[in-house]
Amino acid sequence: MQDNLYDITIIGGGPVGMFAGFYAGLRNLRVQLIESLPELGGQLNAIYPEKTILDVAGFTGVTGKQLVERLADQLATMDVDVKLGQAVTNLVKGPDAFKIQTTHETSASKTVLIATGGGSFEPRKLAVDNVEQFEHQHIVYSVQNLADFKGKTVIVAGGGNSAVDNALLLSDVAKQVYLIHRRDEFRGMEHMVDQLRASAVKVVTPYLIKKISAQADQVLVTAKKMRTEAETIEIVADKILVNYGFISSNKVSKGWELDLDESHHMFNVDTEMATSVAGVYAVGDSATYEGKDTLIATGFGEVPLAINQIANQLYPDRHLPIHSTALKR
Ligand SMILES: Cc1cc2nc3c(=O)[nH]c(=O)nc-3n(C[C@H](O)[C@H](O)[C@H](O)COP(=O)(O)OP(=O)(O)OC[C@H]3O[C@@H](n4cnc5c(N)ncnc54)[C@H](O)[C@@H]3O)c2cc1C
Repeated sequence: MQDNLYDITIIGGGPVGMFAGFYAGLRNLRVQLIESLPELGGQLNAIYPEKTILDVAGFTGVTGKQLVERLADQLATMDVDVKLGQAVTNLVKGPDAFKIQTTHETSASKTVLIATGGGSFEPRKLAVDNVEQFEHQHIVYSVQNLADFKGKTVIVAGGGNSAVDNALLLSDVAKQVYLIHRRDEFRGMEHMVDQLRASAVKVVTPYLIKKISAQADQVLVTAKKMRTEAETIEIVADKILVNYGFISSNKVSKGWELDLDESHHMFNVDTEMATSVAGVYAVGDSATYEGKDTLIATGFGEVPLAINQIANQLYPDRHLPIHSTALKR
């Protein structure tokens, strides 16, 4: 057997890929996990490390960063080859195994589990002229470290879950938080919107940020009232957190020789998470089927379906596990 022939290659080290690595270890599979970013954690780490996640079973509340730490601890209990900072650039089906080409190396794998989530993503920017000039120091797109906002005047721009959650989160540490949104209604979870209305956050609607200029160490932000000719307000702030969503460039399979069935850049799977190519499975945000919800809990639930199917395919003589303690016997 080739030295670098894996039973399973997991592409993507987001929460779902991390849990898949652990579960594949439970089934004694020889596994490699390849992640293009320098760190594991996917969207939780890259986009919302400080946001509290409420809908993962067993946690009354856990930040994105904390959940990734828990997953990393769990993954570390298994013997998984984790390869960071390399993207899978091609997948080729050979007679006995798949050839996995990354930006760094080539390896071989009997099966493949795609957990590439939203693919590569970048934040949607503020539509003002000189946005780059203020990025990093004044304009940010995620809360990487709460301490950066301590005692500051902060503008949160946006009207979805992230904007509402972040405005509330920052109101605990910031001197003042403004939430600017172009509509009067928010698309956040009702419970969080109620909390927002009762909080110290100053809600500024329906306004849209139109101009930013430097003012000593701060920025002067001009927002225009929607559907008016020239009615504006001005706020001097230290930081602007832009939560306008993300532009996803989920062209994950671009350049791959393997031709997989896709809908809207997600891989179509059956009830066992199998794609249109035998031996290739998909889970998490990168997998789709009728009624799919792109949530962490959904992805976690898909992992045993895919991994047990792979284990049965590779080692049909092994018993199908009923629960994890049966696996650890
Ligand atoms: C702001 C925000 C808040 C959210 N809040 C919640 C919440 O409260 N509860 C909830 O359940 N869900 C929430 N979600 C959704 C949740 O984050 C996703 O469902 C979850 O991240 C999906 O996990 P994943 O592992 O499938 O994909 P991802 O987290 O997207 O991870 C995929 C990984 O694959 C890597 N990758 C992509 N292409 C390649 C390649 N070619 N080679 C190697 N690596 C590759 C990426 O770099 C990434 O690290 C939220 C999403 C956002 C954006």
